Amino acid sequence: MKKKTYDIEEEYPIEVKRLYLPFKTEVVCPSCKNKKEIDLNFDYLSYPILNKKESFYIYCNKCDIEFETLITLKLNITIE
Ligand SMILES: [Zn+2]
Repeated sequence: MKKKTYDIEEEYPIEVKRLYLPFKTEVVCPSCKNKKEIDLNFDYLSYPILNKKESFYIYCNKCDIEFETLITLKLNITIE
């Protein structure tokens, strides 16, 4: 059978209180331009909704503020 991948495109709630993922990246604090790490191995997503822009808040210890970053979780399924 030929391998086929399907994208899930509609918004769909993931009923998981703490969803950890093997993903990390850096974002820049809008105030001090300090680089902050988002590490989803430790900073979990709580009840995320697939394909929906969601606010994710990052704390900057340098300027003592929390700033917002938008995260969209997408998923696909491969049938082999
Ligand atoms: Zn800052």
